[in-house]
Amino acid sequence: LDLIASERGPFATAKWEAAPILAAKAAPNEAQQVTNPADPADSPGTVATASEADIETALANARPWDASPEERAAVLNRAADLYEKNFGEIFAIIAREAGKSLPDAVAELREAVDFLRYYAANAPDAPPVGTFTCISPWNFPLAIFTGQISAALAAGNAVLSKPAEQTPLISHLAIKLLHEAGVPKTALQLLPGAGEVGAALTSDPRVDGVAFTGSTDTAMKIRKAMAENLAPGAPLIAETGGLNAMIVDSTALPEQAVQAIIESAFQSAGQRCSALRCLYVQEDIVEGFTEMLTGAMDAMVMGNPWHLSTDVGPVIDEEARSGIAAHIQAARAEGRLMHELNTPNAGSFIAPTLIRVNGIGDLEREIFGPVLHLATFKADKLDRVIDDINATGYGLTFGLQTRIDDRVQHVTDRIEAGNMYVNRNQIGAIVGSQPFGGEGLSGTGPKAGGPHYLPRYTWASAPQ
Ligand code: ADP
Repeated sequence: LDLIASERGPFATAKWEAAPILAAKAAPNEAQQVTNPADPADSPGTVATASEADIETALANARPWDASPEERAAVLNRAADLYEKNFGEIFAIIAREAGKSLPDAVAELREAVDFLRYYAANAPDAPPVGTFTCISPWNFPLAIFTGQISAALAAGNAVLSKPAEQTPLISHLAIKLLHEAGVPKTALQLLPGAGEVGAALTSDPRVDGVAFTGSTDTAMKIRKAMAENLAPGAPLIAETGGLNAMIVDSTALPEQAVQAIIESAFQSAGQRCSALRCLYVQEDIVEGFTEMLTGAMDAMVMGNPWHLSTDVGPVIDEEARSGIAAHIQAARAEGRLMHELNTPNAGSFIAPTLIRVNGIGDLEREIFGPVLHLATFKADKLDRVIDDINATGYGLTFGLQTRIDDRVQHVTDRIEAGNMYVNRNQIGAIVGSQPFGGEGLSGTGPKAGGPHYLPRYTWASAPQ
């Protein structure tokens, strides 16, 4: 920590000017100023967004990576080394453009490196699908971005990568390191920009497959665009939203459960698709339990992720902040606000908030921020709760706090969720042994970092 803290100094004032990776000569690119969600006075840099001509150049020049699986693996492992060596700069960028704290940035680096090494170790020998478009979100701007790209590259595809518009700087650094490690430019190109760039890259017949992580709505749009323009059966690998619940029964260890809830609902300011949105507490214990939970919420420090004391950073931007604030305001108007902390004046901050609901069915959509909803259940109505959770149609993560073994089995048999967590927080996964991914509205599968994922990037599972 000391080393990282002292290394942060020079980065604090650095600005990045990221040029296009593979620019068309014709029109000048539009410059996009990147914002710091914690501090409106700070801009970490500017990027040149991809023009129509850039997109055309990228599509015309994309070539599958003509190298043996062993050669591709060596390059991806070298990229993993470069990621690790450059952690100071990685942290400096994602703290400022994504509002991530140091522990969150460390976790992102580890996950990105795990993806690189895991897909390198499993680089398939089967022919690639061809050209893959990878579209990534801002909430894991390094880990998910790298996971998609490294899977597609390990299988030998050409990759056209469209990062989220909020976090283009970290994607530039990552692509630079991947090229430096030896990925040919024709096999990997970066096309920063907003949704239109993504739309162009998912509706061109020269694209053979799409990997997407983001909202369920956008995934539906992409599926439609692909159906109209791409070859029939072109693979879409989508990971989308969640409406995740946790059940705490009266046998749970309260301290452990509270800690798990705080981490699941409020780490990364609740901006994880895996985050806990609706907590069910057994009626008999709810009073004392809520008191402990709100006490733990009071102890959280909200602020600039640059400071090592910060537990909760900002949400990604002003648009996100105002949407979440409107949801909290509606709950306040209905008298359902149970607990909220003070919010700093400047920056896109939302204070950790607890809202009373009757059940998960009251949540119309995923609120992507540090807002937790609380419902109670009677001891003999557990199955009803499980039915309600399954009825949302989402199925990403689920948490259970109990010390009754039979109940673990009972709930596991009934709950429809990609990842289930017992007596711990419900975030995180282990690349290789506990892959991550959802069911229903939460994604198409297969799970990222699992044995069935890489084959989707090969010709074996593409249209024949
Ligand atoms: P989020 O709510 O996480 O921003 P989005 O689904 O809006 O989720 O964004 C995820 C990614 O999808 C971003 O890189 C975004 O630019 C991209 N995107 C948005 N609209 C489209 C679209 N119509 N086609 C392809 N990509 C899109």
